[in-house]
Amino acid sequence: MTTETPKTEQALRDEIEALRTRINTLEAEKLRSQRLRQLDSSLTSSVLDYLPDFVYVKDLDGSYVFNNVAHARSIGVENPIELVGKSDFDFFTPELATQYWHDEQQIIQSGQPLLNREERSIGVDGTPIWALTSKVLLRDEQDQIVGLLGITRDISQRRQIQDKLAARETEYRLVINTMTDGIVLQDAHGKIVSCNPSAERILGLTEPQLLGLTSIDPRWRVVHEDGSPFLGDAHPAMITLQTGKPQSNVIMGIHKPDGSLSWITASSRPLIGADSDKPYAVVVNFTDITALKTAEHQLRESEERFRELAATIDVVFALYSYAERRPLYISPAYEKIWGRDSAALFETPASFIDAVHADDRARVLKAITAGKLGYEYRIVKPEGDIRWIRTQSFPIRDVHGEVVRIADISEDVTEHKRIAAEQQRAETLRTFLADASHDLHTPLAVATTSVYLLRRLITDKHPIDEQLKYVDMLGARIEHIRKQLDDMFTLVRLDLESAFEFKLEDINEIVQIVHAQTLPAATNKQHQFTLALGTDLPSVLIDTKEIHRAIGSLVDNAIAYTSPQGSITIRTGKRDNFVLIEVEDTGIGIAEEHLERIFDRFYRVDDARNTSFARSGLGLTIAEKIIEAHNGIIHVKSEVDKGSVFTIALPLPAAGT
Ligand code: ADP
Repeated sequence: MTTETPKTEQALRDEIEALRTRINTLEAEKLRSQRLRQLDSSLTSSVLDYLPDFVYVKDLDGSYVFNNVAHARSIGVENPIELVGKSDFDFFTPELATQYWHDEQQIIQSGQPLLNREERSIGVDGTPIWALTSKVLLRDEQDQIVGLLGITRDISQRRQIQDKLAARETEYRLVINTMTDGIVLQDAHGKIVSCNPSAERILGLTEPQLLGLTSIDPRWRVVHEDGSPFLGDAHPAMITLQTGKPQSNVIMGIHKPDGSLSWITASSRPLIGADSDKPYAVVVNFTDITALKTAEHQLRESEERFRELAATIDVVFALYSYAERRPLYISPAYEKIWGRDSAALFETPASFIDAVHADDRARVLKAITAGKLGYEYRIVKPEGDIRWIRTQSFPIRDVHGEVVRIADISEDVTEHKRIAAEQQRAETLRTFLADASHDLHTPLAVATTSVYLLRRLITDKHPIDEQLKYVDMLGARIEHIRKQLDDMFTLVRLDLESAFEFKLEDINEIVQIVHAQTLPAATNKQHQFTLALGTDLPSVLIDTKEIHRAIGSLVDNAIAYTSPQGSITIRTGKRDNFVLIEVEDTGIGIAEEHLERIFDRFYRVDDARNTSFARSGLGLTIAEKIIEAHNGIIHVKSEVDKGSVFTIALPLPAAGT
């Protein structure tokens, strides 16, 4: 106060005025804090300290005037009195404290309370919590705002449960929304109250369009599988609502708004409350089976077409499972061609062989086991008629290339075979006649010349010896022509099916007869002629006369093509399922290049033509024909100048014949 400047009166007056205002304010504040304190004392004595909720009173500056125990503890203070005069900024993070301060200023300025705000806060143990806060203004008797009363409740637990529930619901929604099945929820009156996107897609309506619709809405035009209308009350949802019973997999055709028909399979489940046994709602889930239905329909149609075809054509189509060789399908033609009921084949698949001709059974079974793709065999119809069947097999593989089924196509080829055989016979006859006329021409020409010469010799009275020479020549040519004709007739006759008469015979007996008959010729050529008969030979089913002819032919050749003093052996024996007859000689042999052709008609190896015997060139052709008619085999092994071995193998009769 050393250099105090004198004040003007006006300045002093202003100062006094300012002081007076200050005093007034201070008095007003004093009054307010007195009132608050009164309030405080009434609050402290209340039961607020027992509340778990945080209760606090702040003055207009945000300073604490009152706190209950729960609030004090939540911010780490044991005695609430210690908090008086402090503010949120002393305990909360600056962000939280600022936020609270702003909220409160807003309340004070607007006069509007803050009610039930969910906000972040700090819990009793200092950990962050979710809080539910309400803040209201406190007024004195003059209705002046004196402060704020706040109540904050820790709702973290509730929020946690809520959050979990919300998350769970999101998950469920996601599942329901991504399901390919349609789901609708219908209330007790059958009205749709909720649906998922698949329901919209399958039913062709949007959610807003679906909501409120019922199952019995005529616009659905629901039909049964047979096309008859589906009465609304028969809808699974309606049944479930009425009876409380779930319905499963009901197939329904529903017309979409665009007029197209969708097929669904629907199931319904009731929702039943705890206090009633009547459903309060029904959940219907359904799958779109339109594509399946269309495919099924197409399959049925194509199967129908196939069946029609199978029923009309004279070809048996059969489908077998590969593993068990069990029939899965046999077309109706089987009954017509086989003259048997196909039911027996389904019952006992192996019984198919019973219809096969006894002689062909082994071959057919072998063809099947070997997986042959085509084979022919005879069947015997119940009335004894024999038919030729051609079966073609087609393996059907799965995606891995494994054979899973066998498709068989079988047809009666008897007529084809007959025509083919006839054509073959006509062709044979044509070439035969051509060959025969050529072969007969030569001896006939010689005979004609001989007759001419003989006539001249007789006319010119030549000596009788000379004449006889020509008579002999003529006789030899006539004999040649006779043999040729005989063999030709035999060949033609053997082509007829009725040419053979089969009987069980002992082969040794026939061989012995041949031996006896050809012995003079062999002796003539000083051949060493041996008979080596096998013992205990089973009888064979043969035509004696023809087998005799075939063996005779081989022996005849052996004698003809073996030089004097050579040896000839006839052997019999058994190997596997065959009886063997071997004719071995030490004759001129046959060169490799001729071997294949000596069984051809009229084929002769050139050198052999010089033989003095009249030969037809048909002996081996006839022998081969006879042996083949017995299902046997004839073959030759030969070496030039060393000799030949001709072997006939005749099959033993099949068991049961
Ligand atoms: P052919 O009447 O000429 O004997 P085949 O049909 O019996 O007629 O025989 C055909 C041909 O095979 C004969 O011409 C002969 O050349 C040859 N041939 C047949 N058997 C023998 C054999 N045992 N040794 C040598 N050649 C043979």
